[in-house]
This record gives sequence, structure tokens and C-alpha cells, in this order.
Amino acid sequence: MIPVTKPFLPDIETYKRYTEDIWNRYWLTNNGPLVNELESELKSLLELDHVLFVTNGTIAIQMAIKALDLKGDILTTPFSFVATTSSIAWENCNPVFVDIDPNTFNIDPELIESHITPNTTAILATHVFGNPCDVLRIENIAKNHGLAVIYDAAHCFGVRVNNKSIFSYGDICTTSFHATKLFHTTEGGAVFTPNADVNQRLFYLRNFGHDGPDKFASIGVNAKNSEFHAAMGLSNLPHIPTILSRRKSQYLYYKSNLENLGLTFQSIHPDADYNYAYFPVVFKNEKQAKHIQNLLNNNRIFPRRYFYPSLNTLPYVTPQECPNSMAIAGSILCLPLYHELTSTEQDLVCRFIQKELRQ
Ligand SMILES: *Cc1c(COP(=O)(O)O)cnc(C)c1O
Repeated sequence: MIPVTKPFLPDIETYKRYTEDIWNRYWLTNNGPLVNELESELKSLLELDHVLFVTNGTIAIQMAIKALDLKGDILTTPFSFVATTSSIAWENCNPVFVDIDPNTFNIDPELIESHITPNTTAILATHVFGNPCDVLRIENIAKNHGLAVIYDAAHCFGVRVNNKSIFSYGDICTTSFHATKLFHTTEGGAVFTPNADVNQRLFYLRNFGHDGPDKFASIGVNAKNSEFHAAMGLSNLPHIPTILSRRKSQYLYYKSNLENLGLTFQSIHPDADYNYAYFPVVFKNEKQAKHIQNLLNNNRIFPRRYFYPSLNTLPYVTPQECPNSMAIAGSILCLPLYHELTSTEQDLVCRFIQKELRQ
């Protein structure tokens, strides 16, 4: 069986050492030493001023919308994981979809301005599969129209653009450390902001609004993560350079084997240090994609339709036309890609696709 993804697991002895420390301290959660250690390691690795570790990547987006006190319409992408849109709706804002660029799979910056109205308060864009959005152009548009910018960077661990961590862009940037992501803490996520005041608001939001034991500075929720999750993160972090370099060779191996078959690959931002986290392939049409999916499934290989469906079709949003997103969501498959995937397994996946498309 070849699944679409498989979580990375560190050496169990490393994790055990961290858990023995937890046993000795009886400190399991609530801003513990391992949570602090993980946050400071991430700050120095990513060269960021502020990092807040939270329970997952979805609550990170909800906190971002709350911290910026957004109301009304938020311009967003229809081609993302459902959490990007559901968080907007959850915070009682209205998702307004801007179609994607069919080459980058990201929100098309050309189309943003024509969607701005007096009700628009923010842009919430996803760096799809770790491919950076046109961050400089989006920053410019936002500045000219007085809009906030939030990035969902759930796929982006290890990505840099214009020589800075991708997490440094936007008023707030969020990420996920879910078990399926390139860097994970089992469940988890983070919020990043360059602004100290915004960071302070996020800090209160994460922990019931607590400002000291019996004092509350604001509304809040429980989004703090535990020592066990931090221990998994600290155990995984030293493996990141190996994971990144292996991912790159696996990605390039797929690409070289699947060239000249009429498939479309994602165009990566020219100024990015990319993380090669996923291997998405766009087929000629939905029929071909489903056919290949069935063929692979019958051979115990499980690519994923990701992202599918296009989010403008969700039952709780106002219907909007997004032809590029609809076409790509219908005809895309993410091929199996994870640290332990071997080149023999990649050959097997490629051979089925080659055989079918060369006929
Ligand atoms: C995984 C993911 C999320 C949600 O993160 P969780 O940690 O699973 O809540 C949000 N957006 C995108 C693009 C994702 O891939």
C-alpha cells in the first residue's frame, strides 16, 4: 500500500527523554518549558520576533481574524483546504472568492482589486502547496485600499521568499503543525506577526484572555498547546534539513519521470526557496484524473484529490463563479509524497501513469 502521506516519526528515544522530563516536572500544559523552548527554537530558526504555538492551524486562522477585529467581506481563495473559508464564516465574516492563477494555483493578484468594495476589510490568501503568493503585490494592493492581510501558510514550513521566511509576510501569518505536514507536532499550529501589539492580542486570545492569574485583558479561547506536542516538535525539528533535501529529490524524481505526458505542474515563485512539500499534478480534465485515481487505487496506491471541492461551492457560502479553481480542483491529484517513500515506490506510481497517458 502506498498512501498519499505518512507522518514523520523521530527516533523514539529522543521523544522518551522529553517525556521523562515532563514526568519529573508534573508540568503538562499551560505555557510550560517545552512549549517555550519550541517557540524560541522556531524564532531563531525562522528569524522572527514573535511565534505563538497553538493547538492547530484552523484555530490559528480564527484567532488571526479575531485579533484584527475583522468584519464584513474578506477576499479569499477558492482553492485551499476548507479551514481557510470555514474560519472566515465561523468568525461571522463573509468570504468573497477571487479566482486563482491557473499556473501558480494561488489567488490571482490581477483579479483582487476588481473585487474590492466598501465592505471589504481584508485579504486572506493561502500559499498553495507551499508556493508563495505574490506577497509584494498583495501588500501593495492592501496598503492602497486600507486592507489587512492574513496568510494561511499551513504548507509552508521551510519556505523562504526574497530571502526571508514566508511566515514574516502579512499582518498575521498562520501555519499548521498537523501530523500530515512537513514539520509537525502531532496536532498543532502557530501564529506569526511582525507587530508587537497584534502579538499581545493573539497572546491573550490563546489563553482565555488571561493577563495574570485573576485578571482578564480581553476575550479569549483555549488555543494553548501541551508539553507533549511541544516534545514531538522539538524531536522533529533537528530532522528538518534532511526532510527538506529528501523531499526535493523525491519531487524532482517525480517531475523528471512525468514530463512530456501532457500534464500540468505548479509554477513556483521565482524568488522562493521552496520546500517541495507536495507533488500536485493537473490532468487534462476531470475524467482523466478520476480514471488515473481509480487505476492507482486498484493497485493499492492512494493519491488524493486535493484540494477538492473548490470552496466557492461550499453549502454555507454565497455561490460565486471561479472557473479556474473549479477546473483545477476537478482535475488535480496530489501523488504520494512522504519522507519514507522510496524511489522504487515512486517508479511504480509513475509507471501506471506513463502507461495510461502514452497510449
Ligand atoms: C492543514 C491545513 C489547515 C488546517 O490545519 P489544522 O492544523 O489541520 O487545523 C489550514 N489550511 C491549509 C491550507 C491546510 O493545509
